[in-house]
Amino acid sequence: MSSNLYPGLLVVISGPSGVGKTTICHALVDRLGAQLSVSATTRPAGSGERNGEDYLFLSAQQFKQHLDDGDFLEHAQVFGHSYGTLTGPVMEALQAGRIVVLEIDVNGAKQIHQRFDRAKMFLILPPAPASLSDRLNTRRRDARTVIAERLAKADGEVRFARESGCYDYTIVNDNLEEAINQIVTIINQEKEKSQNDRRPQV
Ligand code: ADP
Ligand code: 5GP
Repeated sequence: MSSNLYPGLLVVISGPSGVGKTTICHALVDRLGAQLSVSATTRPAGSGERNGEDYLFLSAQQFKQHLDDGDFLEHAQVFGHSYGTLTGPVMEALQAGRIVVLEIDVNGAKQIHQRFDRAKMFLILPPAPASLSDRLNTRRRDARTVIAERLAKADGEVRFARESGCYDYTIVNDNLEEAINQIVTIINQEKEKSQNDRRPQV
């Protein structure tokens, strides 16, 4: 997609499970008034998750219907389930000049990177591998087997993400506030840059 077709800013946040992506994305909503894209998924809702707010929880058949109808901006299989970003709300918000945040895996990020040359891509990393296990267990959302599967895949995911070459920024989420501040600062700079680029030259 041409870089000048929409006035908003598309932001992608990726990283291994438990690194703090969702926490950071909610902070971007609070701090920047960003719009968080609500993904569709076939995975079952975890403890405390609400349909339509955390995700659109769909059956495999419903997901396939959206896929067949060409409704997804990107989609991928992650941990054995389908996940996808619906095009409509994202494009509407970008056209309205909003900052739109996608919390998606690296396969989805690659698709966005190819289609949106102005998207800003962030890879979030833990300070140490052990912090993922601590955080996933503290979160109490997933069953123990689900957590074990996610931890087993974390190293490979990070390697694949680094090798993808599609991330502009790597942020270590050690101190949460510091990580959020770094991302907020970068997004504000990028927003200003894109506004300057769009100003008519005199
Ligand atoms: P993800 O979306 O990447 O799977 P979450 O945002 O759900 O991760 O965070 C997993 C858990 O880790 C949550 O309980 C969250 O409060 C906690 N957490 C997030 N960032 C930090 C941090 N910097 N230090 C300690 N705990 C954190
Ligand atoms: P979770 O099940 O923990 O919410 O998410 C699991 C993984 O799926 C995370 O890496 C998350 O970023 C990714 N994910 C969530 N929504 C989407 C989406 O719409 N598209 C893609 N490609 N990945 C997603």
